[in-house]
Amino acid sequence: MRRDVRLVDRESRICENSAHLRHPGVDALKYSIFSLIGHALSRERWPLAWRSPEPAKHYDVVVIGGGGHGLATAYYLAKVHGIRNVAVLEKGWLGGGNTGRNTTIVRSNYHFEPNAHFYEYSLKLWESLSQELDFNVMYSPRGVLNLVHTPGEMDAAMRRGNAMRLNGIDAKFLSRDEIASWIPNLDCSPSSRFPILGGLLQPRGGTVRHDAVAWGYARAADALGVDIIQQCEVTGMRIEDGAVTGVRTTRGDIGAGKVGIAVAGYSSKVAEMAGIRLPIESHVLQAMVSEPIKPVLDTVVTSGAVHFYISQSDKGELVMGGDLDFYNSYAQRGNLPVIEDVVRACLALFPSFGRLRLMRTWGGIMDMTMDGSPIIGKLPVKNLYMTGGWCYGGFKATPASGYVHAWTIARDEPHPLNAKFTLERFAEGRTIDEKGAGPYPWAH
Ligand SMILES: Cc1cc2nc3c(=O)[nH]c(=O)nc-3n(C[C@H](O)[C@H](O)[C@H](O)COP(=O)(O)OP(=O)(O)OC[C@H]3O[C@@H](n4cnc5c(N)ncnc54)[C@H](O)[C@@H]3O)c2cc1C
Repeated sequence: MRRDVRLVDRESRICENSAHLRHPGVDALKYSIFSLIGHALSRERWPLAWRSPEPAKHYDVVVIGGGGHGLATAYYLAKVHGIRNVAVLEKGWLGGGNTGRNTTIVRSNYHFEPNAHFYEYSLKLWESLSQELDFNVMYSPRGVLNLVHTPGEMDAAMRRGNAMRLNGIDAKFLSRDEIASWIPNLDCSPSSRFPILGGLLQPRGGTVRHDAVAWGYARAADALGVDIIQQCEVTGMRIEDGAVTGVRTTRGDIGAGKVGIAVAGYSSKVAEMAGIRLPIESHVLQAMVSEPIKPVLDTVVTSGAVHFYISQSDKGELVMGGDLDFYNSYAQRGNLPVIEDVVRACLALFPSFGRLRLMRTWGGIMDMTMDGSPIIGKLPVKNLYMTGGWCYGGFKATPASGYVHAWTIARDEPHPLNAKFTLERFAEGRTIDEKGAGPYPWAH
């Protein structure tokens, strides 16, 4: 009942001067060829994809962070658990964090069981996400190919490929000749600087348009009544008797029955507001794109040995990434030495790309855990939850992370898929160290 009153207040405020806005709780306009034609003929303005309401005094759930993970959490809270009195608080703009800064690769080519099942579930959600959200997220299953350069890597790739198959995940080993005939630009000659012995391919891996993911979840969550509030930074937590009861923000205090943290590179800072110290280090990861060219690369190629990966976007740009900057930082920008490293690796593998010009480079903040796996679950303060610690690869986790985070918040217990990704595992010695790299966050 209280919820209804709040909605009426809010609707009348929002709709005063904005006749084209939808009412919360009403399904979003269906995107289709018919609505496209209808709008072209009527010349009406398209309704905004989501509202921009003023924050209410209290929500059942407040989700901090308007990236893919926060928005997906809110969407599944509303859709699956019927919890619609939810706000997503974003300090900047939707997708302006790592969601809009990543290289868009999705895959589930993991060896360890918790990772394999979790990321495979995510990949399954990606496969139908455009239909689910009625928003084209441009999932492109173009394959993700991990190059193998040494006999040691060959053993590891075979082991991982077999483990993937045993877990029902698609995996295929390609010989050097098969790779050479598929990707003619790749230098597969035995005399190349990093000779290629073969490669492990996950055919269903690929890319997804990153900002469409944030917008699609935002639109669908808004249609279910979720308040999405941008330019609203959380600056503190209200904690009473060991339980979180709300957040302090740049737009005033907001009460909350439960709070979920989904802030990627800022997890440590936000958890600290509740007095929690996370086993996370924050580092900068950079990416860059070339000028756009005609299609030359129809898969994602990665090389662990040189830490380089590349794909071609639908706009024609070659999207490239490399390793961390290796010093702790909250700067969302990179530096020249890493750019040089990435370009060097690119030219060693794809010599003909040396004729291209680099168009843009950028950086994002990665929250690197001590074992390379995420933390998704309850925190030591009652009614406080988090999904974070994504290291290099949280974009591909977005749908599954939102799904299980919402589940954990709604039921106050983990979903089987995130049961192992607890914060306590670090104290209990149950780490999920996929790489076997040890407690060195920069090494995962
Ligand atoms: C260069 C680069 C390449 C990458 N490539 C890939 C890839 O190919 N594949 C892959 O799977 N992953 C990749 N990643 C990782 C991936 O981008 C992230 O793990 C993922 O996007 C995290 O999503 P998120 O929603 O948690 O974070 P974000 O999109 O960063 O969202 C968190 C939001 O929280 C907001 N926020 C922070 N603090 C507060 C506060 N106090 N109050 C309110 N809001 C706050 C931020 O403004 C931000 O918008 C890459 C990352 C980078 C930087």
